[in-house]
Amino acid sequence: MLYIKTKLNEEITLTIPIYCDEIYTKCPECGVEHAVEPEIIAHLLNEGDDFASASVYCEKCSKKETAADTTEMRKGEIDTLEKLASPIVQWIREHQGTHTEVHISWDHVRVKHDGIGIPFPYSDE
Ligand SMILES: [Zn+2]
Repeated sequence: MLYIKTKLNEEITLTIPIYCDEIYTKCPECGVEHAVEPEIIAHLLNEGDDFASASVYCEKCSKKETAADTTEMRKGEIDTLEKLASPIVQWIREHQGTHTEVHISWDHVRVKHDGIGIPFPYSDE
């Protein structure tokens, strides 16, 4: 049996058995108390982190973290795309017209010049 042993005062020492499904923390983001999955405990042990300074986000906040990471990654991709596309857009504006498109794939660059066009609404009925 693994247990937590803590001394309350000179006379009283508490020993509390540790059960895997009874380990809790408070989310550093929203403060909600939540159970810590055994896999996360194993991860903390593997990383050599100490339990007292460990931060474990609740399910809701960890999803927000992941979404924020994804948003940050997307922002990087958008910045890269903008840098790559800027000279081409500049070239279209200076040497072509509003009916010119450039399609780029891994083995081909195609410059298209559209003719006349009108929107043509589609309906399932
Ligand atoms: Zn939270």
